[in-house]
Amino acid sequence: MDPRVLEAMAPYFTQFFGNADSKHHVFGRIARQAVAAARDTIANAIHADPGDICFTSGATESVNLAIKGLFDCGSNSPRHFITVATEHPAVLDSFRRIEAAGAEVTRLPVDARGLLDPQQIADALRPHTQMVSVMAANNEIGVLQPVREIGALCRERHILFMSDATQALGQLPLDVQTLNIHLLAGSAHKIYGPKGVGLLYCRRRDPKVTLRPLLDGGGHERGLRSGTLNVPGIVGFAKALELSLEVMATETARLRALRDELFQLLAQGIPGLRLNGHPDHRLAGNLNVCIPGIVNESLIIALAEEVAFSIGSACSTTAVDPSHVLRALGLSSPDVNASVRFGLGRATNDAKVRHTAQAVIAAVARLRRQTFG
Ligand SMILES: *Cc1c(COP(=O)(O)O)cnc(C)c1O
Repeated sequence: MDPRVLEAMAPYFTQFFGNADSKHHVFGRIARQAVAAARDTIANAIHADPGDICFTSGATESVNLAIKGLFDCGSNSPRHFITVATEHPAVLDSFRRIEAAGAEVTRLPVDARGLLDPQQIADALRPHTQMVSVMAANNEIGVLQPVREIGALCRERHILFMSDATQALGQLPLDVQTLNIHLLAGSAHKIYGPKGVGLLYCRRRDPKVTLRPLLDGGGHERGLRSGTLNVPGIVGFAKALELSLEVMATETARLRALRDELFQLLAQGIPGLRLNGHPDHRLAGNLNVCIPGIVNESLIIALAEEVAFSIGSACSTTAVDPSHVLRALGLSSPDVNASVRFGLGRATNDAKVRHTAQAVIAAVARLRRQTFG
């Protein structure tokens, strides 16, 4: 977490500890004002009405609320939803849940670079399609989907458009009006904010989106999400987003240069190394590569004390899920198991990139010698 975020949060743990929904005393009022200011900051960042921002415990909860809440609110008549094979497990598993309860769900494939063609959506539409759900940026390969075109298509066909923007918030400009997004999920801990706080943008006008809450209780957050508000977390989320927006343009350029340098160095030192995902339409801080002849887990373990990087997803806690994203790109099982993901961020600099490249190149050479004798 950015130390400036912690600094902004600290008084709301100790000094201003009031419950934001306590109407009468000064402690409640201070907490309520802090939440209102944070809501304004976050709403402004995505050009939303502050009243359309619902705070949650994270993006997992937000997409569960959006998908299950929308399905549970509707009639018993048949309803169809469209999503993509490379979505986050929170989205895919929520759709699996409503499918078991009777929803029709189409999961569109992507091309070999991870991109969806909006025409695929147009072709998949049914008369009773209610919502299209496409993430803005992929968490494993960083690929940016054409959300502008998809939003325009949904506007034309009067279909709801949801975007899991957890990887895009604070990294890319997002405007829910021009993108025609009705439901959007984001999370604080992906932008140097605290873990355990997220948002669901849910539009109340043009059109009004009605969700059935997952949690019943005191009716907080316009009845969408009952439970005492996480005041320090919400304050930290707003601070983290504010800081991300301030440096967005310069950080994007800086990270892209470092990311490309890391790729060049690795490609020079590792014969056969290949990029996974689209070379241009992707996040600046993402590098996912396939290193044929190694097993990704062995490489990560070999370097565990000096470099932290990942197998495809960090989001699955169950036995290693051989990345559904890389499989959707058409990679063979050995290639999926030979792929790793590097995430570059605010603390990454040129020295760390060079050190990482050297360490990875040396470890790959050792592992390949072991494999091939
Ligand atoms: C991290 C992530 C999530 C889950 O967010 P949490 O706040 O950790 O629950 C959902 N979608 C995407 C694209 C993510 O990167």
